[in-house]
Amino acid sequence: MTSILIIYTGGTIGMIESEDRQTLVPFNLKHVLEQVPELKKLDAKLSSVSFEQPLDSSDIEPEHWMAIAEIVKQNYEEYDGFVILHGSDTLAYTASALSFMFEGLKKPVILTGSQLPIGMIRTDARENLITAVEFATLRMHDEPVLQEVAIYFEDMLYRGNRTKKFSTEAFDAFISPNYPKLAKAGVNLNFDFNELFRCEREEFSVQDGFDNRIAVLTLFPGITEQLVTAVLTNENLRGIIILTFGSGNAPRHQWLMTAIESAVKRGVVIVNVTQCAKGNVEQGKYETSVGLLSAGVVSCGDMTLEATVTKLMFLLGQSDDSEWVRDRIATNLKGELSVS
Ligand code: ASP
Repeated sequence: MTSILIIYTGGTIGMIESEDRQTLVPFNLKHVLEQVPELKKLDAKLSSVSFEQPLDSSDIEPEHWMAIAEIVKQNYEEYDGFVILHGSDTLAYTASALSFMFEGLKKPVILTGSQLPIGMIRTDARENLITAVEFATLRMHDEPVLQEVAIYFEDMLYRGNRTKKFSTEAFDAFISPNYPKLAKAGVNLNFDFNELFRCEREEFSVQDGFDNRIAVLTLFPGITEQLVTAVLTNENLRGIIILTFGSGNAPRHQWLMTAIESAVKRGVVIVNVTQCAKGNVEQGKYETSVGLLSAGVVSCGDMTLEATVTKLMFLLGQSDDSEWVRDRIATNLKGELSVS
């Protein structure tokens, strides 16, 4: 029998109404399992562990990614797979962060959550939880089918570091704009075997340490020199993500290029991510990105913002060498990048 560890971190999936019935507050894991007795019918041995203080995922910090990774590490040999219950708001960040932290992962780590609390009549939580667990139990040729960090939400299994929360309303709240889904749950659970990630390294380990001295600078028509300078001259920052227009374009103000050049010279890693959900950065395609390229901005290709934020913090946490970080950020590490 396959053994699965359910890790409850918080989020709507385990929320109940507060006593005054005005807000939703996190409840404990016992409640989640009580609500879904069907789980006991699965051909799997289930155990669970919960954050002492379940969190709304907007309160998630890098230290919580480390705490989740530590639970997986401590239990890696004992369990065949892991299902992590997590709020949907920052689910794509946590899934991305975990994908970079795990080396040699050969077991499924599936994150899921829900749009409606588990106790509500029309909840999506029950199906998400049951099917995530079922996906985690699947084996073929004596090994788990899934050997990566994935997100399951409303019938779809996605590579975690390719996802974005897309809707506050729909049950299918996530998209994976630049990578196909890994599997779809219908009458059967159908994998797209060609899209699954496999790592060569045999030994499982967890690499932690995040440096959050980064900023995300969103460009918009009319952005001022004052704002840009405040970010680019900030001595505390080691990495800056510029969220650009279209295929990686920016206004051609001389003050912008000069500020970028001097930050790059100081050793700040500046990277280019597009504001478009789908497609990729192509520096040099338009005149409006040529300046970024020559100022030393690194293209993040088709990476999501969520993957870029977590990857940048992760790489900066691994090394003081900004050249190494510049090189690695543009390299595909865990299937998060296909066009650089
Ligand atoms: N605010 C909640 C959270 O992310 C929303 C959810 O779980 O869907 O924790």
